[in-house]
Amino acid sequence: MTPIIDTHCHLADPKFESDLDGVLARAREAAIAQIVTVGAIGPLARDRLSVQIAEQHEWIFAAVGVHPHNAPDCDDQRIDALRGLAKSAKVVAIGETGLDFHYLHSPADTQEMALRKHLELAGELDKPIIIHCRDADERLAAIVRETEMPRAGGVIHCFTGGVDAAESFLALGFYLSFSGILTFKNASEPQKAAQIIPEDRLMVETDAPYLAPVPYRGKRNEPAFVRQTLGALAKLRDADSERLGAVAACNARRLFRLPEACG
Ligand SMILES: [Zn+2]
Ligand SMILES: [Zn+2]
Repeated sequence: MTPIIDTHCHLADPKFESDLDGVLARAREAAIAQIVTVGAIGPLARDRLSVQIAEQHEWIFAAVGVHPHNAPDCDDQRIDALRGLAKSAKVVAIGETGLDFHYLHSPADTQEMALRKHLELAGELDKPIIIHCRDADERLAAIVRETEMPRAGGVIHCFTGGVDAAESFLALGFYLSFSGILTFKNASEPQKAAQIIPEDRLMVETDAPYLAPVPYRGKRNEPAFVRQTLGALAKLRDADSERLGAVAACNARRLFRLPEACG
């Protein structure tokens, strides 16, 4: 199996607390060479734990941010704390941040304010940004245009939009990362987009413990399952999945400036 990368999961989630070692061992068995673990959901402690996990494992890297669901927590103090955590050499990105107008767990204007702060922080620290976007494609693109894309670039994680949204994010310079949603029967929009995105802008992720791909749908997701999403992506593009996995891994290494995977 070609070594591949799970570019987005949440290893500090309490759902992994009791058996993280087993989860990581299964990832290694599935030739997951590197993982980017994202804090961001919930309290700052999750960001801290994510960085800690990355520091304990050579092949794991971290991203720190405040999820749009938690946008009201994104005050200047929290941004300062993220700046401090980002001093670790294992922190390779800022996020996830973004806009979620599907769930609207926090007010839209608060989400927008938090997004701008993250874009500025990513620019200041010269790190790529990880964006979460649900039902907010146009607004998100407009804010990135206004605030400026970080020089280090960024990725729209768990991309669920269609061809138009893909084209507008590609024009801004984003990579697009697909999750297990791509394996769902009702995902025709992202499935169409998956066929037109240039190969050098594609990534795959699990977003574990959420969004397990078919045939694990409904169960707890874990990094090893990223192979299912890669398989679905390759099928949609009529591509060889091993080769596409290598290309997607190469893209992730370029964006997150990851070292060559060891083994
Ligand atoms: Zn997300
Ligand atoms: Zn996530």
